[in-house]
Amino acid sequence: MRVLGAGLVVIGALAAGCGGAGTDTTVAKPKVDTAAATRQAKAAKVAAAAKVKANELGQIPVIMFHRVVDKPTTQDDRTPAQFRADLERLAKDGYVPVSAAEYTTGKIDIPAGKHAVVLTFDDSSPSQLTLDELGQPKQGTAVQILQDVAKRNPGFRAAATFYVTGDMFGKTAPEEQAQMMLWLKQNGFDIGNHTRDHHSLSGKPQKAVVEEIAAGQKLVTALDGAPPVTLALPYGNQPRKKDWARSGKSGDVSYNHAGVFLAGYTPAPAPFNKNFDPLGIPRIRAMDKKGDCAQFCSTAWLDWLNQNADQRYTSDGDPTTVAYPKFKAPFLRKDFAARALPY
Ligand SMILES: [Zn+2]
Repeated sequence: MRVLGAGLVVIGALAAGCGGAGTDTTVAKPKVDTAAATRQAKAAKVAAAAKVKANELGQIPVIMFHRVVDKPTTQDDRTPAQFRADLERLAKDGYVPVSAAEYTTGKIDIPAGKHAVVLTFDDSSPSQLTLDELGQPKQGTAVQILQDVAKRNPGFRAAATFYVTGDMFGKTAPEEQAQMMLWLKQNGFDIGNHTRDHHSLSGKPQKAVVEEIAAGQKLVTALDGAPPVTLALPYGNQPRKKDWARSGKSGDVSYNHAGVFLAGYTPAPAPFNKNFDPLGIPRIRAMDKKGDCAQFCSTAWLDWLNQNADQRYTSDGDPTTVAYPKFKAPFLRKDFAARALPY
C-alpha cells in the first residue's frame, strides 16, 4: 500500500476474476483525512450553533406545580384550564420539557433552537395522576393534560418529574401505590424524592434530616426499584448544612442526589454554568402575574425570558456539545470543558 499525498491511499487490489493474474489493477481511492474531517465537522457544528444563537450556558425555568383542581384553594393550585394554558404557552414559546434528572446530569437532548424547561409536580396528589382500571389517566389530571398537549404540539415532550411523598397519589395499598409508580416509569416520567412525611428539614439535627430523606428514598425504591436522581426540599427549606440533603446514609438506605431543588423563585442556571449549584436549585411557582406573583412566578418569568432571549437556554440540537457565544466562556464549568463548543 502506497500513500499518495494527503488523503489519497493507493490500494493494490487483488485481481480477482477480471483479466487474469499479473494484471496491474491498482486503483486510487480517496480517503478522508481524519484530522481535516474532524475540523470540518466542528466548523459545521459551530456554524449551526451560531445560526440558532445556541446558549447552553443560559437560564432554564424549572416550574413547580402542585395540584390541578377545578376549585383552587391555595396559591399553589392551578385549574385544568390554567394548567393547559401554561403548557400551551411553553410550547408556543419554543420550550421542550426535560426531566429534573436529565437537567441536573446535563443530558439535555432537545432540537436546535429550542429552550429547555423542567416541569415538576410536588406532593403526589390524585389531581396529578389518577388511573382507571385499564391504566388510562383520568380526564383533567395533570398527566392527561400534559400528554394531550404533547400530542397536539409535535416536539413538545410529555416529560416531567414527580416529587412523591407518602401520600402517593392518594393510594394506601402497596399494590396500588406500585401501580402508580410503575405507570409513571413505563410512560417515561421521572420520580424524585420529596421525603416520605414532608416535614421541614430546617434546623433539624443531621440524623433527623438524613432519616427523613432516606425514608423518601426507601418509599420510591421499594415500589419502583430506581433510586431518585433528585430531591425537592419540603417547603423549599434547606437543612442546616446544605450537603446533608445531597448525600447521606441511614441504616441500610443511602442516597446521593445529583441535584436538590428549592421552592423559589428565579429561573435556574444551565447545568453547564458555573452558577449551577446542585445543593440549591431554584424553581418558579406556576402562577399568573398578580399579587406576590407580579414578578417572581411563571407568567412573569416567561415574559422576562422572552424579552431577554440572550439570557435563556437555547439548544444547538447536539446533546454531546455545550454550545455558547465565546463571550460567555468564563462561565463554563470545568467538568464540561471537553464538550465545549464556543462560537
Ligand atoms: Zn411539597
